[in-house]
Amino acid sequence: MERKKICIIGGGASGLMAAIMAAREGGEVTLLEHNEKTGKKLLATGNGRCNLTNTCQEPSCYHSLSGNLAWEILQGFSFQDTIRFFSQIGVYTKNREGYLYPASMQASSVRDLLEMEARYRKVKIKCKEHVKDIKKEGEGFLVVTETWSYPADKVILSAGSRASAIQGADGSGYELAKNLGHSLIPPLPALVPLKGKGNWFSKWAGVRTEGRVSLLAENHIFDQAQGEIQLTDYGVSGIPVFQVSGRAVRLREEGLKVTLLLDFLPDFDREGLAAFLRARQEQCPYKSVKQLLIGLLPEKLAEVLMTGKPDISKLAEKIKEFPIEITGGKSYEQAQVCSGGVPLSEVYSDTLESRKVPGLYLAGEILDTDGICGGYNLQWAWTTGALAGRSAARNIRKTLQERS
Ligand SMILES: Cc1cc2nc3c(=O)[nH]c(=O)nc-3n(C[C@H](O)[C@H](O)[C@H](O)COP(=O)(O)OP(=O)(O)OC[C@H]3O[C@@H](n4cnc5c(N)ncnc54)[C@H](O)[C@@H]3O)c2cc1C
Repeated sequence: MERKKICIIGGGASGLMAAIMAAREGGEVTLLEHNEKTGKKLLATGNGRCNLTNTCQEPSCYHSLSGNLAWEILQGFSFQDTIRFFSQIGVYTKNREGYLYPASMQASSVRDLLEMEARYRKVKIKCKEHVKDIKKEGEGFLVVTETWSYPADKVILSAGSRASAIQGADGSGYELAKNLGHSLIPPLPALVPLKGKGNWFSKWAGVRTEGRVSLLAENHIFDQAQGEIQLTDYGVSGIPVFQVSGRAVRLREEGLKVTLLLDFLPDFDREGLAAFLRARQEQCPYKSVKQLLIGLLPEKLAEVLMTGKPDISKLAEKIKEFPIEITGGKSYEQAQVCSGGVPLSEVYSDTLESRKVPGLYLAGEILDTDGICGGYNLQWAWTTGALAGRSAARNIRKTLQERS
């Protein structure tokens, strides 16, 4: 009998999706996962609620050093396809201002339903199988784990990244890809808190405040984001900081001086703010400059802004453009994703088959694309998993048809 085996390495979001799509197309699928169960990271997503995609999709939501290739790939399995797919397997989605969650608000339902569908499609799920090598064998492969060797016609490498403290995120997939001849854009933490240079951080630690962050390097604003900023004893965190963090870490790694400019009152422009403060000063002559900030900003933050006893125009400048020199990101363990990975130019955009190793497909975060917060990283996992799984199985079918 003809072999039509597909071996998938990594049973996370993209691997489970790939397994289902490949099995639906008639592939005989084995999925190898080194944890004791599939989808551990998936269970942690969205604070346990799983923000599985977003209805607002734009090229700027995805970062990659390969320019527009990520966006091109995403067209192959869109967020509408994702919603349809999840509805088919039983996940009814709830829309919270464009952010989509399972109606149960439980990430476990997403994981469980993916696994149920995969098992129904006769995917062999083998846990506690750490893949340590993928050998080319004739036209196929031999996937070597610590206990066994699995022959395969096609291999899908969906082993994720080094990000998070979740068991299994060891980055071993990068080595597997490299050993097969792929290059690697050095993976770095993204969606991660940022550390700064300064001696005031302990004074503002614990404050959460609305604001805008701008990422400045070489006199150029690379990125901006707005939302709740968390001021910490090492620097800054919170969603807007996460949104710019991947680029900040990479620019810093490239040796550039990277500064975050924090705008604590985005509703005002600088002149408007100075005028507002002066008017308050005239109206309330009994107030010190610092007391003018009562009711505008949290007290601990006002304390830091008042260092050096600035006059009103200096104070307005500090509120609108408070600079923090970034010294780096927190660790991989504290990151939600990694930037970098296998360059998208090394895979075909429509199938995700490797341009270097025919029969090998790559899916998920191992590829050089990281999304902003809001369901974009899972959308990348669903898209790439679906395309890789489907293409691997169709490719086998085509070969079998040609032979018969
Ligand atoms: C705390 C947290 C919250 C997040 N929340 C969201 C969110 O709400 N929305 C969103 O879009 N994204 C979110 N993300 C990001 C998202 O989870 C990832 O981008 C996504 O899971 C990546 O999918 P993947 O399949 O590439 O990798 P993973 O889901 O990490 O799967 C890879 C799998 O491969 C296994 N593996 C690795 N190496 C081997 C090996 N050598 N042999 C066998 N198995 C191996 C791993 O154990 C893992 O199960 C969050 C991430 C974290 C850490």
